[in-house]
Amino acid sequence: MFSKLKTDKIHEECGIFGGYLKDKDIAATLKCGLLKLQHRGQDSAGISCGFDVQNVYKNLGLVNTALRDNELRKLKGSFGIAHVRYSTCGDVKEENIQPVKTTYFGEDVSLVHNGNVKQAEKIREEFEKNGEVFLSTSDSEVILKKIVSSLKKPPSKWTFEEIGECLLKYFSLGSYCILIYTPNRVFAFRDNFGYRPLMLAKSKEGFFVASEDIAFCSLSEPEIVEIKAGFGVEITKEDCQIKSFSSNKASRQCVFEHIYFANPASNIFSKNVYTTRIKLGELLAKSEENDFRADVVIPVMDSGFACALGYAQASKIPFHVGLVRNPWLERSFIQSQQELRKNNVRQKFAPIKEVILNKKVVLLDDSLVRGTTSREIVSMLKRAGAKEVHMRSSSPKIINTCFFGVDIPTKEELIAYNKTDFEIAKEIGADSIKFLPFESLSEVFEGDMWCNQCFLDEVQK
Ligand code: 5GP
Ligand code: MG
Repeated sequence: MFSKLKTDKIHEECGIFGGYLKDKDIAATLKCGLLKLQHRGQDSAGISCGFDVQNVYKNLGLVNTALRDNELRKLKGSFGIAHVRYSTCGDVKEENIQPVKTTYFGEDVSLVHNGNVKQAEKIREEFEKNGEVFLSTSDSEVILKKIVSSLKKPPSKWTFEEIGECLLKYFSLGSYCILIYTPNRVFAFRDNFGYRPLMLAKSKEGFFVASEDIAFCSLSEPEIVEIKAGFGVEITKEDCQIKSFSSNKASRQCVFEHIYFANPASNIFSKNVYTTRIKLGELLAKSEENDFRADVVIPVMDSGFACALGYAQASKIPFHVGLVRNPWLERSFIQSQQELRKNNVRQKFAPIKEVILNKKVVLLDDSLVRGTTSREIVSMLKRAGAKEVHMRSSSPKIINTCFFGVDIPTKEELIAYNKTDFEIAKEIGADSIKFLPFESLSEVFEGDMWCNQCFLDEVQK
């Protein structure tokens, strides 16, 4: 039972959106924000909106399937929060769909969460020993319950400072961006290490918070600010205020958000994601030996696109989309069995023989985790007539697991763990493989405010 809980919750990466829409019902705007954040979670989508009384509408599936427009039209109220969920261990359950909502002293309160909080299992156990029950296995319900039981007063009386104090006291070892919706108020909190991004927009339509600023692109002339680590926002009908709840200044922003996770159009951690990826590709090209030449650079779409372009521009090797990605298929990475993942990769890509035949190909992806994608694609390119396939990764070797939200399996499953480049190339059937040198990361991610633990064989304390 306990180990099942663990696998349920680790590796959860999500997208959050919420706020206040002046003089209008917010439900459709919440859906619009979630559509823009769909890449952050495809298992389920949900919203909670209203004024005093909160309506929760949530379902499994992609945003457009989960949230039907005819149902959204029935939901009244200008305040709301919303969530797309990406859990990776195959256990996608209805009861884990967010927002979580409870009623306390007759008042509704809802919460959405992006990240992982380490202490949640222990706190759940303490609650259960006292006879308390949970409706889900998600850590978000534990956070809400802990806040309720600590503050012990109606949600309309909760203050930003009190909630922040509770988060700091009980959940300081985690990564989280949390939105809490109490009667006529939306609070946002970004953990004091700042693992995950959180953005704020003020516009004439209202006040909004989101995981990535791309969620604001349908607002008119929004003024956008990034919420710093240990800071949050309080949104009311009249105003939105940025507030601090922690004095910790040691940020650990997740580099993987830029490498893989976020939308290229987004600007998070004070950087544009597309530009970062181009730069990573350029740095990778510069790290090649001088005499390395190839005929064509091919990206593994979609997340490998920008780094492949950067690599091609810096190396002056022609760039081609040699593999067409089927846009109608589910993602391959989150399938629970290796065989399913393999089949999915095969169905996902189709080679363009004219680009590949008799060519020495550089195949560029943003990262190799288990090596499933690269193994399948290398063999696909060879079958399509490539003379040589040289695999390149615009991130360094992933050799460590992650507890802060990115889906990385056990060390033993990681293709780069304890292996030389030669051994990895052999395993995926490539003629050579190169990863971005770890030292090059600091040229893109300057300073010491980054979490790059997945590239280090030790855990940061
Ligand atoms: P692999 O196939 O080697 O296990 O994983 C690498 C591929 O999966 C790359 O194409 C990369 O873009 C993608 N990827 C890396 N990390 C994640 C993740 O956390 N979630 C998902 N869905 N895909 C990922
Ligand atoms: Mg990819």
